Amino acid sequence: MSIQLNNIISILGANCTSNVSAETIDHVSIDSRSSHNGNATLFFSIIGPNNDGHQYIKDLIAGGVRNFVVRYIPEELVDKANFLVVENTLEALQKFAIYYRGLFHFPVIGITGSNGKTIVKEWLNFLLSPDYTIIRSPKSFNSQVGVPLSVIGINEKHNLGIFEAGISTVSEMEKLEPIVQPTIGVLTNIGTSHDEGFENTNQKIKEKLKLFERVSVLIYKKDPKVDALIAPTITTFSWSDVDESAAVFISKTTFEDQKTTITYRFEGAIFEIEIPFEDKASVENAITCLLVLLYMKYDEVSINARMALLYPVEMRLEVKNGINNCNLIDDSYSSDFQSLKIALDFLEGQKKFEKKTVILSDIFQSGLTDAVLYHQVSKLIEANHITRVIGVGDTISSFKEQFVNGQFYPDTAHFLADFENLDFSNETILIKGARSFEFEEIVAALEQKKHETVLEINLNALSDNLNFFRSKLKPKVKIMVMVKAFGYGNGGLEIASLLEHYQVDYLGVAFADEGISLRKDGIRLPIMVLNPESTSFASIIQHQLEPEIYSLRGLNNFLKIAATKQLKNFPIHIKIDTGMHRLGFERKDISELIAILKNNDAVQVKSILSHMATSDDTNHREFANSQIRLFDELSSQLVTELGYNPIRHILNTSGISNFPEAQYDMVRLGIGIYGVSNNPDEQRFLENVGTLKSVISQIRTIPAGDSVGYSRRFMAQKETKVATIPIGYADGISRGWGNELGFVTIKNQKAKILGSVCMDMLMVDVTAIECQEGDDVIIFGESPTVVEMAEALHTIPYEIMTSVSQRVKRVFYR
Ligand SMILES: *Cc1c(COP(=O)(O)O)cnc(C)c1O
Repeated sequence: MSIQLNNIISILGANCTSNVSAETIDHVSIDSRSSHNGNATLFFSIIGPNNDGHQYIKDLIAGGVRNFVVRYIPEELVDKANFLVVENTLEALQKFAIYYRGLFHFPVIGITGSNGKTIVKEWLNFLLSPDYTIIRSPKSFNSQVGVPLSVIGINEKHNLGIFEAGISTVSEMEKLEPIVQPTIGVLTNIGTSHDEGFENTNQKIKEKLKLFERVSVLIYKKDPKVDALIAPTITTFSWSDVDESAAVFISKTTFEDQKTTITYRFEGAIFEIEIPFEDKASVENAITCLLVLLYMKYDEVSINARMALLYPVEMRLEVKNGINNCNLIDDSYSSDFQSLKIALDFLEGQKKFEKKTVILSDIFQSGLTDAVLYHQVSKLIEANHITRVIGVGDTISSFKEQFVNGQFYPDTAHFLADFENLDFSNETILIKGARSFEFEEIVAALEQKKHETVLEINLNALSDNLNFFRSKLKPKVKIMVMVKAFGYGNGGLEIASLLEHYQVDYLGVAFADEGISLRKDGIRLPIMVLNPESTSFASIIQHQLEPEIYSLRGLNNFLKIAATKQLKNFPIHIKIDTGMHRLGFERKDISELIAILKNNDAVQVKSILSHMATSDDTNHREFANSQIRLFDELSSQLVTELGYNPIRHILNTSGISNFPEAQYDMVRLGIGIYGVSNNPDEQRFLENVGTLKSVISQIRTIPAGDSVGYSRRFMAQKETKVATIPIGYADGISRGWGNELGFVTIKNQKAKILGSVCMDMLMVDVTAIECQEGDDVIIFGESPTVVEMAEALHTIPYEIMTSVSQRVKRVFYR
């Protein structure tokens, strides 16, 4: 964004005493902690129930912010900044969002209703994302503040918006409508939630419909109560399962084995789609999405293919550790041909073992004859290079001759009886069965004895975060993702496999060993090694890793080895020190560096890079810019002298956020992909990736005067219910987090940590929480977030994430 401040003053109808003719704004913030808060930021001082933005103005001015929208000018600051005085700063933010929204002219889907808004938004995003660059409300950002902030997130790369709007009382929607300006309206189900804010259902429906006053079309489920309130001027596209006058008439829904087949009539023809769940709410939400696809003129083939993939969020593919070093993919709750394809795809993406086994039950409801079905299944299994198939069920057993390396059992009990003879070891095993086969027993038999603490990694969140940062890049800018330190503690191989699937351009690791282990596990992406020891050069070459060369000594050592191996044009990366003073060539080394490189064809400079010391801190903008200038100068000199064009890159995550002008040819994305930004405005758009979970081992109630833990650091003032959790500092939970500073989440409630954190355990206060032994405990994730923990512990999220010990099992899901 780049908007004249003068312009904004007139849009807001604000009073401003200073002369701001030359100022432009490139960022809007409401959060005093945002690292975007620089001199081109416009800060809206929002007054909330617990927090008044005006109280941060003084500090923000000290930090370089010059432009504020305020209700009043704090004392003594009058001449220290530009103040745009308005009556209501929230309304001013909304006005600005309305103006900003008006600058873009692509289709925008606006969603409201009582239930299902977020799920419909997420599904539409999934269904449409192959064809559009979508901006959507983060999470369930649908309030009076959330909607304008979502809309202000639009940039030039987007070509479709999906925003949800939620209201709790009258006259809220008329404020949100002009901000969203939906062109396609979607009304999800009208339920009973928030009824207290309205006199009656009619009033509630009327209010929600205000979102759709200017849409080109309104998509909704026909309902006499709603119909009566829709203005006749509005074009509608409706569905119904009772009223045949609806544009899409659902004539039949049949459920079987967790799937629903929906038969519908549209423009005189009959169609059928299948969706992989059978609860009523999901079916309604899926039909709503179907109407959007029909309205957007998707053809039958794409609709059927994409709707079939709409698996519910809780149905997820998990990779678990199995016995004898096996990896398990647990898909033990469904068995149909579509989801088999997805699961085999996921299996294909698992690079850890060459040996792959599929344990498969009979498949139901394929719509094909058994002969055709199992023929197709066998082809699919062959195409996915599956080593062996274990079939369970009478039907699949009767087609055993179709499968090359197969073993068959009539039912799960027979399989389990033969378990010891099947010799499961060092392989990846997909367990896929219809619910009636009770494959969870097979999973239990194969699963390594459970350690009760796990770090769950949400791979979908990771790919969404990747897409978020991709949307910030100029066309053709490449992405290197840093997977050093075991993917910032989240798992090296699994994340690297995912990134390979999403076709990032490079991976970055810290040491050669990390790269070698990725290569051994089959990762083929180019991998740059940030800090290669000279002693590892030979194995770097052997495993086709690409070293960062940062000194003349390193270069000469590498060239010696390169000569003995008679290398030609081996890719290396040249690091320049522009002010970080960690690794890199300095200005004084450049001419010698050039002389050596020019004289040598054993290596080729694949890229030139530098690293910024202060990209996350706008107080040091001048220093950061000086680094960029020096990088520009020295790398240009190298490029000219070399006579070819290496990739140039300098930005890490916060650099991408704060110095978009310095993207060069590539960026190096690290912490951002794992869901952390140092900028709260941006943090909203990122999804949490890692959730550290445990369970309650024991609960007891102690009387007032008793103490908890070592050195009696917690003394109960009153009767206290105490829960013990099997995770401690040896798992990476800092002792500083104890003594009631830190908390865990149990049943969505905070439970403070009592006394000291022990090596393998900690105790929490659950006096006010209804809970039992064995209940789930969240150590970090959505709450507390690693960002919160880091702040309280005076460290950075990086340290919290990379501290989770390797004895904590990682579980991946999507
Ligand atoms: C770790 C690292 C990055 C990534 O940094 P983030 O702040 O996590 O994005 C980029 N470049 C270099 C040289 C690094 O060491």
